[in-house]
Amino acid sequence: MDQKDFKFKKKYGQNFLKDNTIPQKIIEISKIMEDSLVIEIGPGAGALTKLLAKKAKQVIAYEIDDSLEEILDHELLDFDNVHVVYDDFLKRNVQNDLHRYTYSHLYVIANLPYYITTPIITKLIEDSLNVEKIIVMVQKEVADRFSAKPKTKDYGSITVFLNYYFDIKKEFSVSRNCFVPKPNVDSCVLSFTKKDSLLTVTNSDVFFQLVRDSFQFKRKTLRNNLKKYDLQKIEEVLGKYDLDLNVRAEELSLEIFVEICNHL
Ligand code: SAM
Repeated sequence: MDQKDFKFKKKYGQNFLKDNTIPQKIIEISKIMEDSLVIEIGPGAGALTKLLAKKAKQVIAYEIDDSLEEILDHELLDFDNVHVVYDDFLKRNVQNDLHRYTYSHLYVIANLPYYITTPIITKLIEDSLNVEKIIVMVQKEVADRFSAKPKTKDYGSITVFLNYYFDIKKEFSVSRNCFVPKPNVDSCVLSFTKKDSLLTVTNSDVFFQLVRDSFQFKRKTLRNNLKKYDLQKIEEVLGKYDLDLNVRAEELSLEIFVEICNHL
């Protein structure tokens, strides 16, 4: 099948890059080291996959739409270091898939299907894959949320969750005009670099629940969102920062959330 005859499926978030400079820029910022394995989620017609294959020792790409097989086989003919798995990445036991590879560096580099951006990033963390660096293209508004700073409207529980594990940086913006079909949103390439050492939390389940609860109603104060917690202990920590229970979650840094959790 020729790429021109391909019927794009909206339900899979299929907006393929038509501007070749974008995959090139993604490769440049990725600084792929020798002896690396790259996971790509959603190779589509292989615009990025081909360039990844030139740089990395191995590429494993997950594509849910097996009607892309003929196109991808053709596009990747010159490479024997790419394995395309036709499956839903979210349902996949990725740990098992990685067992047959040996590598020194593991990266995720992808133009993500936007309808499942957060579940994909959450899975990468929860599957304990030990990914060193994630470089992904996401919808601009999602990039704003992931990389938000405290006291801004985009700062939320997902920001705190992701920033606990990674340093997140906006690398460059990508116009909707770079895709076919043209989506209704602009995009941004983000890099996630694993933090050298994580802040110590006594119980990570309690920590992430506390963060979620704090942001449950964004306009409400901690006093209202955290009624079921020991408010006196929370106030003891807030007091150290000249804050009290009338503060909203969006004003608290990752470090303050960690301190509250460890004091509870
Ligand atoms: N990488 C290509 C590019 O940049 O031109 C395509 C990117 S397109 C935004 C997202 C791709 O993810 C599509 O090929 C789509 O079929 C695939 N996809 C959607 N949901 C998926 C899932 N759950 N698992 C694996 N791939 C998925």
